[in-house]
Amino acid sequence: MIDYLASAQHGKNFTGKVVLVTGSSTGIGEGIAKLFALLGARVVVTGRNVSRIQSVAQDVQQLSPQKLMPLQVVADLRVDADIERLVKTTIDAYGRLDVLVNNAGIYPVDTIRDDNFMSHCDDVFQTNLRPMVKLVNLASPYLQKSKGNVIDISSVAGIDPPATQLAYGTSKATVMQLSRVLALELGPLGIRVNTINPGAVAVQHIVEEFAGALDVVVPQTPLRRYALPLDIAKAAVFLASDDAAFITGTNILVDGGLEWNYPAKIQCYTR
Ligand code: NDP
Repeated sequence: MIDYLASAQHGKNFTGKVVLVTGSSTGIGEGIAKLFALLGARVVVTGRNVSRIQSVAQDVQQLSPQKLMPLQVVADLRVDADIERLVKTTIDAYGRLDVLVNNAGIYPVDTIRDDNFMSHCDDVFQTNLRPMVKLVNLASPYLQKSKGNVIDISSVAGIDPPATQLAYGTSKATVMQLSRVLALELGPLGIRVNTINPGAVAVQHIVEEFAGALDVVVPQTPLRRYALPLDIAKAAVFLASDDAAFITGTNILVDGGLEWNYPAKIQCYTR
């Protein structure tokens, strides 16, 4: 009984654990990296924007109880060699990997009638989906050793997509299916795989680009607010922790109970 309670108590202590969060140069990924650092993890901050990575890394170091400077890796996840370097650099620096958070993504507005729809579609799938598959492929030997886990960031749009986000909604539905299938394959190796479906999250460029979009969502949300990156980070920490030791192949909606209605969906994502 005492062991059982102790494991629950220490479930969210990530001291000594290594957490790689893609898309951690800003937004939700930045929030996830910071919370893991606060809980003692050694984190990897990555993205394409060098100055953003450096800025997040400084904050992460301040939050880390041991004042650990995180590993910083500039990588474009559309490039296979960059993904390979990201994993190799992580293992070279830390010697292990415990948690892989596949968070990086883009969510442009599109319709099938756009002239450039196909190239646009390729870009969404190459950013939102393909890197997840390759990263899990490269990381799984290390996750097997650490009995680690993978968290894939999907979206409520993966369940109930707006008409104006064909490529995005499809990519995020596929992320959920990917997680479920990977959970089946990797579970027997001791690796858990789960998905988070955020609702509208107030990240910097949504606030700037989709002025008013977040306000449209609030009345549709029973909890009457939009999410902050920390709301998603808390779910990620739970799924990565020992508290979720028997949870795999599932998805958690972190959306305040969001109830889309059609006009809200249109307004939310129409520029
Ligand atoms: P942001 O645009 O704020 O951040 C996206 C992150 O992904 C950045 O760190 C960016 O890094 C990185 N990224 C994008 N493209 C690439 C690439 N080719 N190579 C490497 N890194 C890349 O987005 P959010 O934080 O809002 O979204 C994060 C995830 O959450 C996404 O998967 C998104 O679909 C999902 N989501 C977001 C919601 C929201 O309301 N914000 C709602 C539901 C889901 P850099 O610019 O440095 O390359």
